[in-house]
Amino acid sequence: MSLHTLSIAELSRGLDKGEFSSVELTRYFLARIAEKDPALNAFITVMAESALAAAAQADTRRAAGQAGRLTGVPIAHKDIFCTRGARTSCGSKMLDNFVAPYDATVVAKLAAAGVVNLGKTNMDEFAMGSSNETSWYGAVHNPWDLSRVPGGSSGGSAAAVAARLIPAATGTDTGGSIRQPAALVGISGIKPTYGRVSRYGMIAFASSLDQAGVMAPSAEDCAYILSDMAGFDTRDSTSVDRAVPDYVADLGMPLKGLRLGVLTEFMGEGLEPQTAACVQAAIDVYRRLGATVVDVSCPSLPLSVPTYYVVAPAECSSNLSRFDGVRFGHRCENPKDLNDLYKRSRAEGFGPEVQRRIMTGAYVLSAGYYDAYYLKAQKVRTLIAADFQRAFSQVDLLVCPTTPGPAFAIGAKIDDPVTMYLNDIYTIGANLAGLPAMSLPCGFQDGLPVGVQLIGPHFSESRMLSAAHAYQLETDWHQKLPAAYS
Ligand code: GLN
Repeated sequence: MSLHTLSIAELSRGLDKGEFSSVELTRYFLARIAEKDPALNAFITVMAESALAAAAQADTRRAAGQAGRLTGVPIAHKDIFCTRGARTSCGSKMLDNFVAPYDATVVAKLAAAGVVNLGKTNMDEFAMGSSNETSWYGAVHNPWDLSRVPGGSSGGSAAAVAARLIPAATGTDTGGSIRQPAALVGISGIKPTYGRVSRYGMIAFASSLDQAGVMAPSAEDCAYILSDMAGFDTRDSTSVDRAVPDYVADLGMPLKGLRLGVLTEFMGEGLEPQTAACVQAAIDVYRRLGATVVDVSCPSLPLSVPTYYVVAPAECSSNLSRFDGVRFGHRCENPKDLNDLYKRSRAEGFGPEVQRRIMTGAYVLSAGYYDAYYLKAQKVRTLIAADFQRAFSQVDLLVCPTTPGPAFAIGAKIDDPVTMYLNDIYTIGANLAGLPAMSLPCGFQDGLPVGVQLIGPHFSESRMLSAAHAYQLETDWHQKLPAAYS
């Protein structure tokens, strides 16, 4: 049986019926990782021993009739989530030697639901990047074409899921890091509303934008994982105290009558024609399914990239100050004095992209430039949020591409930060406004996957996942596998 082609629902049913055990599943996926990951580099750490122990425990729970629907299902975590007893590197040399003493809430909640964690996935250093090339552990390769990037920063999770080395994986999204890689490897990925999922134990990049979410082949798979991942957490001050719907039960919400707004700003210049055609075809499917489709304009949205590249570096320059070679992480050899220790530990521990962000952030927050950059960016952020709010008085969900084009070649953009940053032009707005958004596979351009993005009002995850599910009942893009991994 090809266990790797089963959905989470099918895995859960199979476990229930005793068609396979969690230990068997775990062995199967571990073997698949051992065989296929060397070419992809999607994992930083594989946790075979603890995974098999958790799987045995899951089997015992199931035998005792105490299983939830995820009990025994294997997943992997982006290496940004603290995982007790395991290296948690955040893709950085700085934390190469860091073994987390506690579990992130996301890790703990999913473990409590019985999922089996097979390991930690590769990522751009401190989640800064759109190609997974800034990782200290090396680039990740796109399973559709190994010479291309899988997107970033959750590139390891994306490649692992696309190659079906794992049924689903967690990711984080500060400016698009779940949706952009999901699009570039042909899987689904949801970034929930800011505050929906706890940030506790998730290594901070830009705290007002960071949000954890799920990457999996289908929206249905995402619904399964998100239901057990979301929820209020007293240890995260921006976590929202609001009941978590059962996103799986809500998948059947009727689509008829859905008002879908096409984001006009994102359908024109800069968008590659074949990608545009795939997105148009997806919009046509919605029309056929009974959605009302109208054009919607968010005029401030094109300002989201420059706004983000002030706000995110500002927050990261503050968040990353804790990595000083004293309390955490890499420490240089033979420091002359305390200043030398700070300077060299940080210069050696952080890669060039992280250093660029810290310097930009320190600059925009400095007394002389604060008003001109940081304060201005916050004002524009408010305008962008207001644009979205207006849009959602007219429509239920917005639709647009996830990226301007398909996966680019490894090395193509890494030396040109601005070109790299522009890859996130369609995704960053949702983070600035704290909105939920997701990417769904909707076709191919020259043999490479293309994604369509849905953006919704705060806490509209049920609506969004059900609309995504309706689309995936009509199409099979999410079931396509790269030849070498089918
Ligand atoms: N690519 C964007 C950046 O480099 C977004 C990263 C993210 O969402 N973590 O900052």
